[in-house]
Amino acid sequence: MEERDDLEVKEKTSLNFLERIIEDDLANGRVPNNEIITRFPPEPNGYLHIGHIKSICINFGLADKYGGRCNLRLDDTNPEKEEQEYINAIKEDIQWLGFDWGIHEYYASDYYQNLYEIAVRLIEEGKAFVDSLSAEEMKEYRGTLTEAGRNSPYRERSIEENLRLFEEMRQGKHPEGSHILRAKIDMSSPNINMRDPALYRIKFAHHMRTGDRWCIYPMYDFTHPISDALEGITHSICTLEFEDHRPAYDWATAIDGVEHTPHQYEFARLNINYLVMSKRRLLNLVKLGIVTGWDDPRMPTISGIRRRGYSPEAMKDFIGRVGVAKVEGVVDYSLMEFCVREDLNKRAKRLMVVLDPLKIVIDNYPEGKVEYFEAVANPEEENSPTHQIPFTRELYIEREDFMEIPAKKYHRLYPGNEIRLKYAYYITANSVVKDEAGNILEVHCTYDPLSKGGTTPDERKVKGTSHWVSASEGVSIEARLYDKLFLSENPGKATGNYLDDLNPDSLVIVPDAKAEPEILKARRGDYLQFIRNGYFTLESKESTEGHPVFNRTVTLKDSWAKLKLKMEQE
Ligand code: ATP
Ligand code: MG
Repeated sequence: MEERDDLEVKEKTSLNFLERIIEDDLANGRVPNNEIITRFPPEPNGYLHIGHIKSICINFGLADKYGGRCNLRLDDTNPEKEEQEYINAIKEDIQWLGFDWGIHEYYASDYYQNLYEIAVRLIEEGKAFVDSLSAEEMKEYRGTLTEAGRNSPYRERSIEENLRLFEEMRQGKHPEGSHILRAKIDMSSPNINMRDPALYRIKFAHHMRTGDRWCIYPMYDFTHPISDALEGITHSICTLEFEDHRPAYDWATAIDGVEHTPHQYEFARLNINYLVMSKRRLLNLVKLGIVTGWDDPRMPTISGIRRRGYSPEAMKDFIGRVGVAKVEGVVDYSLMEFCVREDLNKRAKRLMVVLDPLKIVIDNYPEGKVEYFEAVANPEEENSPTHQIPFTRELYIEREDFMEIPAKKYHRLYPGNEIRLKYAYYITANSVVKDEAGNILEVHCTYDPLSKGGTTPDERKVKGTSHWVSASEGVSIEARLYDKLFLSENPGKATGNYLDDLNPDSLVIVPDAKAEPEILKARRGDYLQFIRNGYFTLESKESTEGHPVFNRTVTLKDSWAKLKLKMEQE
């Protein structure tokens, strides 16, 4: 798509629109104590996804940049969908990204008493009323985008009656849906969010923090601004879909007695092609068993990409390149992978692993001899550590690195051709051994003892270099190769059901790959490169000492983007 453009656009020196607003507010004395206070307000009804990283980077990033702080606010006003497991995951994910809310961990439910008192005051001042229309009637009275709404027949209830009914609602004397508390604003407002919005609803649900203390719960448009005000938030930053709610936000923060006035600013949410990033859909993938959980390495959740081997630095770089703006767009998946590769190239330890092993036997190499070659962990790094790789008479190379009858321009191993074994010797293939079905079982070769370390005295050139693993000294591992979970750029666009676009090959398991023994030193969270095969990391949940499992983070090259380009050109 627009990868190249995206890479160029971001000038590090210019300010984004939020930074300009903040700097202007600071310069003009509009910020109490000159302290920028933001908040990241996830609802604990699912795990955080890549889209949330943008919001986290903006909110925590601005606080860091201007020496303020960012509160973590768990927006827990929907007791039926929220769980402690989600709260734990949210906290772990933010910390993994490297951000810290310190002691400022808050819950919307911390403010239930305040919100309740504010609601009572609104009733006392004639600014809120208990409505008893059915949901259907209420919808009818609300009007449409082109048609004004009508006042509810209950709008003129006396203050005393409203107070009594609201108190009875709180005491659990009325069933769900029988009454709601609404603000009296303006049923003819062009903004539907201002047509007497709901403030409280009855819900007989157990809340994970407040238990059964409440059976009335405040609505988002009432809770959020007042929570912001109570926490002294200066800049309340959210995504564009809340733009239409800003008048409601301003209304709530202007209620008499609400001391502090935060302001809401909206930015464009992050959308990435090929991904679904709505918690509802992600939950569905989990529930249907299409993935193994929220942290399945194919999930676009923070815990999923962490398990897959993405680094927080790569993701922050990605978010930085996408930038902060007010225009919705779709970012190319390949830009994200580009950032992941850029980062891993700098930090990944290189190892030799053969995913599709073909045995080769070096006939003129002594049986039983083990020789060691030195390999650098990372050629991109100065003074990179080294380790030893055992070399023996029988080795594995990739099956694709040998052809009995070579194709045109094939420079790897074939009978009569000489190649280099990385770090080790030159070898020439002589003959093959096959089974009855004609499958190649092993390739017999000879090596040149003078080519030790990969060069010869006569400086002979070879065109192919293969990675290899000793058959006797190497170890078996399982490799899990991931691909996109969805095959379409916009999952569900064609049929209306995103599940129709699932990629049946999003996980390919290689049960018995061969790896140099150094791999056994890999620890959880290590970044690895299997030479020529991609970046990998140790699987964090299912790997055991007896059965090491590695997840492929990303391939080395974007073969997909190239293929796409080729297809477009044809
Ligand atoms: P979803 O739409 O995925 O279900 P949500 O918006 O309901 O997510 P919240 O828990 O309410 O999730 O989000 C917490 C914060 O993260 C909000 O301020 C929201 O605007 C922001 N956010 C959610 N999705 C994105 C996204 N794709 N890009 C940027 N910010 C996002
Ligand atoms: Mg939400």
